[in-house]
Amino acid sequence: MIVFDLKCTTGHVFEAWFASSDAFQEQKARNLLSCPMCGASDVDKAVMAPNLPAKGNQRPEAGVNMVSDAPAPSAEMKAMMAKIATAQAEIIKNSQWVGRDFAQQARAMDAGEMDHALIHGQTSAEEARDLLEDGISVMPLLIPVVPPEKQN
Ligand SMILES: [Zn+2]
Repeated sequence: MIVFDLKCTTGHVFEAWFASSDAFQEQKARNLLSCPMCGASDVDKAVMAPNLPAKGNQRPEAGVNMVSDAPAPSAEMKAMMAKIATAQAEIIKNSQWVGRDFAQQARAMDAGEMDHALIHGQTSAEEARDLLEDGISVMPLLIPVVPPEKQN
């Protein structure tokens, strides 16, 4: 998986994940890309996301992307977030929460040591990147999930 900063003709910049650089080119060639803010299909790579340090180098602390002084989310944006939340809930409905065992279980399934099953759980930013680098089929959940043990 690779993340690109994309930009539409209006100047909206947004992030998108692709299986590879070729997958981006292919989707662009087939006009499958569109700006999530205005729907324009004329999008291209903006400045590349900063390169993550190579394995073994000093790693940045896990962080959360934040923005300040942003206008309050519009009704459209809220509706979009609700749609994403609904779609995500649908995906994890039949998935088992495995908490911190996520990375270990995802690797075991990839190695064929465990039956494949839909799981979701928590992992550090470092582990997540290692999983993606190793080609393990995982993806980040867009909406934070409350661990079942913390739900009331
Ligand atoms: Zn746009």
